[in-house]
Amino acid sequence: MSFSDIPVDVGPVYEGERIRANQMFVELGGPKVEKHFELVRVKPESEIEDNKVELIGPNLTEMEEGGRYPIGILVEVGGPQLEEDLEAVFERRIHEFCNYINGVMHLNQRYTNWMRISKQAYEKGLNDLKMLGAVLIRLFKAELPIIKKAQVTLYTDPEKIQEPHAMAMKIYEARDERARGLHDEDVDMFYGCVLCQSFAPTHVCCITPDRTSLCGSINWFDARAAAKVDPKGPIFEVPPGKCLNDLAGEYEGINEMVKKRSLGEIERVYLYSGMEYPHTSCGCFEAIDFFIPETGIGHGIIDRNHPGVAINGLPFSAMANTTGGGKQAPGFNGISIQYIVSPKFQQYDGGINVVVWMGKSVKERIYDLLPEDIRDKIPTEEDVNDLGDLIQWLQEHEHPIVNTPEFQAAVGGAEEEEEEEEYEAEGAMLPMGTMAMTVPGVGGVGGFKVILKNCKIHAESIIIKKIEPKRKKK
Ligand code: SF4
Ligand code: ZN
Repeated sequence: MSFSDIPVDVGPVYEGERIRANQMFVELGGPKVEKHFELVRVKPESEIEDNKVELIGPNLTEMEEGGRYPIGILVEVGGPQLEEDLEAVFERRIHEFCNYINGVMHLNQRYTNWMRISKQAYEKGLNDLKMLGAVLIRLFKAELPIIKKAQVTLYTDPEKIQEPHAMAMKIYEARDERARGLHDEDVDMFYGCVLCQSFAPTHVCCITPDRTSLCGSINWFDARAAAKVDPKGPIFEVPPGKCLNDLAGEYEGINEMVKKRSLGEIERVYLYSGMEYPHTSCGCFEAIDFFIPETGIGHGIIDRNHPGVAINGLPFSAMANTTGGGKQAPGFNGISIQYIVSPKFQQYDGGINVVVWMGKSVKERIYDLLPEDIRDKIPTEEDVNDLGDLIQWLQEHEHPIVNTPEFQAAVGGAEEEEEEEEYEAEGAMLPMGTMAMTVPGVGGVGGFKVILKNCKIHAESIIIKKIEPKRKKK
């Protein structure tokens, strides 16, 4: 495969390249552009004009420096062994292949795709978007030899992108809907994906029916199809083995796989928890599930499209830094949007019943799929501005969290007796948050109040001993 006709270098070495706003010639897609997408479709070979690249809308030479434009990337592929289930997995490779081009940065996937072309690359001659299509076709056929024919259509016209964008949204939804009908207990095989290790070397995704990959683009069916056609490829089978903890979603097979693939860095994963042994996050998660210590046990969810800050005062980008990179970050978990509507969603931490805040953009997307008895009790940025408002809103709307001892302890409404019971329970795991307890002085008057903020305590047991004052020998 040759790229001698492309004026910039192409290869995996450029994958980590970042193009900052002041280095970019133009931005294509991304959060500031309304409609954009990328989609792969499998078609009969007879309907594909091999190597054809079509551009519908202005080319780079007709764009203004520093401007932002729509981008639609439609890749149509054919081959005797291809099936529709492979579309999503092929589609995920668009990210990787675009990043191979020196001077092109690609982030995210589906309808959140976001690209930048650098000024330097433009000056070197990368001034025709059709070159991008040509590179994609060559890489698809070289890296995935079961693809025999490919054609690419690129859309940059804000009007003409509408129709293919609507079609893409329908296809994403159909894929998600199919996956929602299947659950972890219905299958005897899980899957793993290491496509993101070039960015986060210790990260491996565990893909199960309930836990769609955190990038949102590979569900269990897609992973199964990919592992079938290329068992030694980046997406592979993971026999779940013995279930060690049903509620947490801890499986012997997942632990073994993660340990091996993270080169010993990660040893245990609770599939359904963002608080203990959480699934690692690379960088392309659709949303973040974050703990809100001030509510004792509550969580918030923010997605990439959220314009401002979350209820904890942090924007998506700041939380993404803490969440990503392939480490386990209790309290910050990268997730797919589909996972939120799974009955297994972080069930170890309290599930959907402890979600106390959601960004409007993510809530709107899944509103119809959320349990009816909870969905109107979860506020967005339109309902509450700060943590004080939030606590009040939860109490006024009788969010189920208000009856939990954790919430009551955090907001200072708990009866002291209840708190004591908590502390005395054997092996008690107290969630991170704000705890208050009183240590009385000798004689029962005065004493101290100990407040533990943002802490996590694990104790096998607590022994309370009375301290006898020592008598001085005469
Ligand atoms: Fe694969 Fe996970 Fe990366 Fe998606 S986020 S491409 S499933 S490793
Ligand atoms: Zn990733």
